[in-house]
Amino acid sequence: MYNAHEHELPEWAKGTRLIDPPGVTSITPGSLTDFYHRMSGGQLDVRGYVWPRVYVTEYGQDHYKADSIDSQARFFVNGAAAASYEIITYVRDHPHGIPLAVDSLWDRYTNGQGDSLEADGKFDMIVILWRFSKFDFSSRPEERDKSSITSLGYTLPSGDGFARVNNGQGLWIHGLQVIDNTTAGSGIIGAAHTHKGAIAITVHELGHRHFGPYHTIDGQSSAYQSAFSVMGGSYSVMGPGDRLKLGWVEAVMINLEDIRNQHGAVSATN
Ligand SMILES: [Zn+2]
Repeated sequence: MYNAHEHELPEWAKGTRLIDPPGVTSITPGSLTDFYHRMSGGQLDVRGYVWPRVYVTEYGQDHYKADSIDSQARFFVNGAAAASYEIITYVRDHPHGIPLAVDSLWDRYTNGQGDSLEADGKFDMIVILWRFSKFDFSSRPEERDKSSITSLGYTLPSGDGFARVNNGQGLWIHGLQVIDNTTAGSGIIGAAHTHKGAIAITVHELGHRHFGPYHTIDGQSSAYQSAFSVMGGSYSVMGPGDRLKLGWVEAVMINLEDIRNQHGAVSATN
């Protein structure tokens, strides 16, 4: 039966192509699980599920732009948060086999302190990938035209973009609260049309959330420009400097004299 809210996933998002589930040791080449496994030298095991449908929003894109959500403005800080709320509640109510009722699967750390493996009653991480870009995330002009953000819509580091919904009860998925802010919230938004884009943007936003709010630069000038790291906006590795900071690699001093000796005498005149 046709469902106006559900379309088929693109091939690149099906199965475990984007992320491998918890409870198994297998790693799909090119998945987020594979990315973090390789980048961290096996230290970081990132697992999750992909909701197996594409959700089609109730209204067109313009409805969710910050300036045109009169009826929803009473509850949401901006149109992006309104859209995220609509998507999350739909998925919660139509899980399609995703075990959303098993709270322990979705609350593995303290939000905002990813290195603290203490459940805190808050849903850990929801990644919403929009299949169009240039979505307005804020009424602030300087925030316009961003395609991805380290929250579910809210642009402030504290508070909860869903605080006013449900008579002030906020947003819940079964026993866990879904909160929305840029440093300890329960989710991020990315815009991606390809597998490579989905991985790179998700990793970039999770990099802000979990590893520090920075963009990696190669020189002294403006942010966002490193050609060598996904934290500079490039595909698709965590750069060597970022991996050093994260403790995922060790710096090894190379003594050129030793290398020369190992390889025997090489003509010094070449
Ligand atoms: Zn960024």
